[in-house]
Amino acid sequence: DSLVTLDGVTKTYNLGGTVTALDDVSVSLDEGSYTAVMGPSGSGKSTLLNLVGGLDTADAGTVRVDGVDLGRVSETRRAEKRGTAIGFVFQTFNLMPRLTAVENVSLPLVFDGWPREKRLARARDVLNDVGLGDRYDHKPAELSGGQRQRVAIARALAPDPSLLLADEPTGNVDTDTGAAIMRLLAEIHDRGNTILLVTHARRIAEHAERIVHVRDGRIERIEAVERRRPYD
Ligand code: ADP
Ligand code: ADP
Repeated sequence: DSLVTLDGVTKTYNLGGTVTALDDVSVSLDEGSYTAVMGPSGSGKSTLLNLVGGLDTADAGTVRVDGVDLGRVSETRRAEKRGTAIGFVFQTFNLMPRLTAVENVSLPLVFDGWPREKRLARARDVLNDVGLGDRYDHKPAELSGGQRQRVAIARALAPDPSLLLADEPTGNVDTDTGAAIMRLLAEIHDRGNTILLVTHARRIAEHAERIVHVRDGRIERIEAVERRRPYD
């Protein structure tokens, strides 16, 4: 079954001139699949991810996630979906500097109304899952780049989302750390999560099962890949 369906999606930006960031894009993601969107800078990758993540809405066409047409629900409902059903991982981690790892990871659960003890317990569990069981009380500044990204991944996974979105997750870490992040994403996929990853780098995209090549806001082709093993 498909978890995400884009049907005839168009998105334009008007800033001085008009830029068509996405032009009549149709694609769907099966539940449990691992897809990479790959293309040069400015090809529309982030726009696509933001639409699937409900951070923005399409001008034409529909974006459905888990049965919900994101263009037809209120901003409040979209925000709710984004906080729980959809997990986001960014290139820049976006952690709260004054909060510890466990507090950062439990944040989405605050918005979801979990009681304090329950959400801290869940946050510790997820930190264990990403290999940071010994870093609960560290603040972002006390962690390495790779550890910060793992905290960000744990935060995205805390509400047990049906979809994990990652925008250049290895963009701000060195090659070895990037390989460890990609291994972690592969493990998360192996546990049954659906992942949509955006990257300009083929070496990274090859960790997915399928590469959607975009150029000038259009899908050029969709390529099935032999997953890189052992994820290097
Ligand atoms: P990519 O992620 O592949 O680099 P983007 O989706 O960020 O591409 O951008 C696609 C096109 O849309 C680019 O031409 C970009 O300049 C334009 N664009 C993206 N976001 C905005 C915005 N908020 N305002 C104006 N133009 C934008
Ligand atoms: P990883 O491979 O997980 O990214 P590193 O080998 O880079 O970890 O870091 C090893 C240790 O050094 C970490 O446990 C971390 O606490 C510490 N460390 C690394 N980078 C920084 C940093 N920029 N600030 C503070 N501590 C750091």
